[in-house]
Amino acid sequence: INKLDFKVLITDPVDQYMIKTLQSNGLIVDYKPEISREELLKIIDQYQVLVVRSRTKVDKEIIRYGTNLKIIARAGIGLDNIDTEEASKRNIKIVYAPGASTDSAAELTIGLLLTAARKLYDSMNMAKGGIFKKIEGIELAGKTIGVIGFGRIGTKVAKVCKALDMNVIAYDVIDIKEKANMLGVKVAESLEELLKNSDVITFHVTVGKDAKPILNKDTFNYVKDNAIIINTSRAVVIDGKTLLEYIDKKQLTYATDVLWNEPPKEDWEIKLLRHERVIVTTHIGAQTKEAQHRVAVVTTDNLITALKEIGVL
Ligand code: NAD
Repeated sequence: INKLDFKVLITDPVDQYMIKTLQSNGLIVDYKPEISREELLKIIDQYQVLVVRSRTKVDKEIIRYGTNLKIIARAGIGLDNIDTEEASKRNIKIVYAPGASTDSAAELTIGLLLTAARKLYDSMNMAKGGIFKKIEGIELAGKTIGVIGFGRIGTKVAKVCKALDMNVIAYDVIDIKEKANMLGVKVAESLEELLKNSDVITFHVTVGKDAKPILNKDTFNYVKDNAIIINTSRAVVIDGKTLLEYIDKKQLTYATDVLWNEPPKEDWEIKLLRHERVIVTTHIGAQTKEAQHRVAVVTTDNLITALKEIGVL
């Protein structure tokens, strides 16, 4: 395969490192970080490699129009915006950057935790508006945090929470006993056990494109009154309409970095966003200088390895 016939299209913002490294390997790179879906559908057949982050939805249609696609690279970790099944049917390789944003995502989670516990958002807003009123929060030491998904980010969050003198319990679908024991983390035998015992619940699971909500009409019943729920994984782990109902029923606080639609578009989603006990950031978990550079380095390395495997480099 002649690499001059091999064109790379990047459709989301990535660190310059990636573009420069691919070009220095002799590849033609087109950088269109704000391309619309319509435009992408028109030009995708000219490219062998597509690089995306989370904005570009690489669904069946995009893959079908991409008749020359050989590799899809996700500069990041979540693969929920890529139809991996359709890609594998066509023998398209997928590369991504697991682990590159672990520390940044965990640090944001702790930020949301402290913001929710001490009502920092409200206090800061009041102060900026010239209102110096004291608002009361809760102390985290001695409280129990339930970590759902005890992988890279969940483990790092658990370590910090231990340092805050919180009790940590974790739930995962794989065996986490050994790792949990080492960190002094209790393993919940079931989701129900975790939910019933947690003052704070934090989500760190990976999800596929057809993932079902973990918090739904049945499981919300187990959540404690006044609990804080934190989500820096993916919105779909929670049934949004049911959350809207339970946030008042149980006086919950919801602190999230991820929405079902970004930006939100459904009525219930906008209502939730505006709720006084909902704290939202704009999907910034991996948005640090360090993480973005690391994501670019790891994705580029994996992409170059894949290009070598198919004989292009
Ligand atoms: P990881 O693969 O290291 O860990 C995920 C863990 O979740 C695994 O141990 C897995 O077994 C477990 N799991 C999967 N489904 C589960 C379920 N239904 N119930 C319980 N456990 C389940 O992943 P990670 O690197 O820690 O990333 C976790 C999540 O964070 C991903 O969804 C990723 O997309 C998200 N993330 C978000 C941002 C952001 O910008 N907010 C940044 C980085 C990662």
